[in-house]
Amino acid sequence: MHIHVSQSGRLPTLRITGLAVAAERETRVRVTSALATCRHEINATPHVTCDGGGVTIDGTGLDLAIALAVACGDTRPAIGALAELSLNGDLRPVRGVLAAVEELREHVRVVIVAPENAAEAALVDGVRIVIAHRLSDAIEFASGRASGEDAPRRPQPPAPPALDLRDIKGAAAARRAIEITAAGGHHVLFLGGPGAGKTMFARRLPGILPAPTHAEQLEVTRVHSAAGLNIGGGLIAARPFRAPHHSTTPPGLIGGGAPLPRPGEASLAHRGVLFLDDLPEFSRAALEVLCEPIETGEAVLARASGTLRFPTRCTLFGTMAACPCGRFPGPQCRCAATDRARYTGRVHPRLLGLFDVRVSLPPVGVATLESQPADEDSATVAERVANARAIAVRERATDSDVMSGPARSLLARAVESSLLPSRQARDRVARVARTIANLAQQRIVSDAHVAEAIDLGSDPF
Ligand SMILES: [Zn+2]
Repeated sequence: MHIHVSQSGRLPTLRITGLAVAAERETRVRVTSALATCRHEINATPHVTCDGGGVTIDGTGLDLAIALAVACGDTRPAIGALAELSLNGDLRPVRGVLAAVEELREHVRVVIVAPENAAEAALVDGVRIVIAHRLSDAIEFASGRASGEDAPRRPQPPAPPALDLRDIKGAAAARRAIEITAAGGHHVLFLGGPGAGKTMFARRLPGILPAPTHAEQLEVTRVHSAAGLNIGGGLIAARPFRAPHHSTTPPGLIGGGAPLPRPGEASLAHRGVLFLDDLPEFSRAALEVLCEPIETGEAVLARASGTLRFPTRCTLFGTMAACPCGRFPGPQCRCAATDRARYTGRVHPRLLGLFDVRVSLPPVGVATLESQPADEDSATVAERVANARAIAVRERATDSDVMSGPARSLLARAVESSLLPSRQARDRVARVARTIANLAQQRIVSDAHVAEAIDLGSDPF
């Protein structure tokens, strides 16, 4: 990003080029008014040229840089500035500060930000972060008359404790399904009506995934910052959990908006869990646009000045009933076969194909789940998950995927018997069987592993 200012003409009006028309008008009003509070009168015609240079910040984030260019001229030292200005000269926080400071670091040695953006900006090493409360503070600093208030660099906060599996008793099939999901990095579909404890399990999945690395925490923070959800915050240490409502639009799920698109729910769930409860209640269009970002790991958003990419590497956790009343295949279900087909058909088949692990749950009721004897806690499960993931990394390095003879013939019989009707279904079962063997810390995939994977991977409808 580059801001250039030149003085010409005699009309005392600020001119800005390089922004959209509406943004230019609003920016001019804010900057002129904020400068007036510092008794800085515009007496020539400053012409400010804004060159975005790929910096992903909102137009409003340029306010401070434009005001400093006008007040100090082009002779000021290389200082970056990221803040909106209020009409009375206060600095306001902006979204996307982490990514913007990372880019500015290549060009400047110091960046001025609003107090609410300081903790996030200070995550970037190798650049000084100065806090300014008002435009007058920023002008004093930029013109060398004040030394500036440094943003404190705080030690990394621990992640808040995740919800624990210890709170759920029994439900062995569901526990096993989310352990396999976490170990293999799969997507999981819970099938069942209300009262099966689906939400309780979904909320506990982030807690059995390995703790995110620092690089992953920065990725998560960048996305939430771009959405404007990290104002006043620093590093986001925990894996995110997002549960969008059924009414969420396609842009709400994958990102969108103008002039600078915001990340959608799939990106806000990056490195965490995207929980889609009651899939048939979502619009088919919304679920369809979700497929490609989940498959490729990024949402590509087109805009006038090019494309913008947000990461979407999340675990998809879907739930749905097998019929409108939610009791199928129980005896109380009176839904006709055509009603059942219409209901499940609302979910796009391409999306259904993404779920490697599918588990059917009987309605047991939350009270039952809480009254059974105590079960394993999340830390114990997380340890097995971490071991299985370490084995998977070694396997990928040596390409040592080995399946026993009986396991191969069981898989072949399942394909012939139309239990696994497509190549996609067969591959799904092979992947899950590999994860099950890794959890058991066995190099060879056995027929028992394949049998469990067929249970979890076959088409439920
Ligand atoms: Zn029914």
